[in-house]
This record gives sequence, structure tokens and C-alpha cells, in this order.
Amino acid sequence: MHVDTLLVTGIHREELKFGDHVAALFNADTIDVMRISQGIPQIRTTTDETFYSNTQHREIYLQLRQQIKGRYRLLIDLHCGIDEAGHCADIFCHDRHFLACLATQPAIAEPAASVRLIKIVEPNTNTAVNSKDSIVDADAHTWIPREIWDDDRCTYIGLEVYLQQGNEGTEEDWQFARTLIENIQICTG
Ligand SMILES: [Zn+2]
Repeated sequence: MHVDTLLVTGIHREELKFGDHVAALFNADTIDVMRISQGIPQIRTTTDETFYSNTQHREIYLQLRQQIKGRYRLLIDLHCGIDEAGHCADIFCHDRHFLACLATQPAIAEPAASVRLIKIVEPNTNTAVNSKDSIVDADAHTWIPREIWDDDRCTYIGLEVYLQQGNEGTEEDWQFARTLIENIQICTG
């Protein structure tokens, strides 16, 4: 059977170990994994608006697009960050219908999980004044090329899972990421 989801790990090289642990929880018949062993250095940002922000990011995503074009319906770009509270995540997506579906998924809707849904918006829109609705928690810009995040045939999801410390995470973090990925996959149905 053709697998229609690609999980990309290691775009930021410091996050590769976390990605390896999460990828190990999936069977090859439900998800394809692209492991980027030579990712770019992680950049810690302090605001939603900056998400990923430099030309290195642009280049690595254009290469990714070259490699995968047309083969998948869902691209999940896995990242990890630090949050002292742990057990929380941000999901970035441009497609409003997809975001609406995500908002109904159990692991995402559950308040204890604190999963924020963030809409990727066009470069020239002001995220501070852009209309927020009940589904979306925030708007954000990204330097990821628009061809990636605004593609009707393949939905782009940026998934950032927050760890309490380090880059690797714990069994609980990996399982949390897995549940979120499974919830995201349901929305391609
Ligand atoms: Zn990252």
C-alpha cells in the first residue's frame, strides 16, 4: 500500500535524536521517514512571529521539496523545543480546513495537553492584527518557501514538541509526539 505521510526529522541537527526516538515508534507501512543527518543549526526564537527565519532554512526546505515532490499528501516536519512545563506542542499549518479538523482531534483538543494551533500566514500580513478565530491560537510567518506550506496536494505541518530539558526527550515525550502525529494523519482522510 502506498504510504501518503512523510515524517521529516533533523531539519535542525540538534533535534535529530528526538526525531529518531519518535520515528522508531512507527511502522513503515503507516509512515515514511526522511532522516536529515546533516541538518542546519537550531535557532531559538522568542516569538511566534519569527518561527524559522533565515535563508539556510529556505535552502534546506527547497532541497526537501525537490526530493519529495508529488509523492505525499501530508508532510510532517518534526521539531522540538524547551518548555519547563513540558507536555505541550505547537502545530503550524496554513490550511484552515485542516486546522479545523485538527482542533477536533482528542489529543489536540484536550486542555491538559496544551497544543496550540498556529496558522502560517502570507509574508506581508501583520500577525498582530490579523483576524484570529476560535480555531487558531496565533498567526505566524515563516521563511519556509511558500511552495512547501501552501500546496494543495500536500499539506505541510510543522510540529514542535516541547521538552522539559535537553534535546532528546523522554519516553513520555516520544509517545506524546506519536499521538499528535496520529491525530494529524486522521485529518488527511
Ligand atoms: Zn527545530
